[in-house]
Amino acid sequence: MEVEVVGDIIFANEFWDCECEKNFTHRKSNTRKCPICGFEEHECADSRLDELLKYESRMLTADEIKIGTFQLAVLQPFRSRLPS
Ligand SMILES: [Zn+2]
Repeated sequence: MEVEVVGDIIFANEFWDCECEKNFTHRKSNTRKCPICGFEEHECADSRLDELLKYESRMLTADEIKIGTFQLAVLQPFRSRLPS
């Protein structure tokens, strides 16, 4: 699971969110353009790791859930140490 920490948000780089109201999370290797709203991956933000694990875990492999949960646990305490 490739992640990127931006401010206090952890992004999962292999996933992106389109502009749809629901079912907006896509895996980049499967979907580069949403067939419903028409937005493309490069126009949209990557998915948040915490939301991915919480709401879209059905899209993830068992390994991705394991690694993602670990990364969230490791990276989240780091966030609270950042100067506000
Ligand atoms: Zn869409």
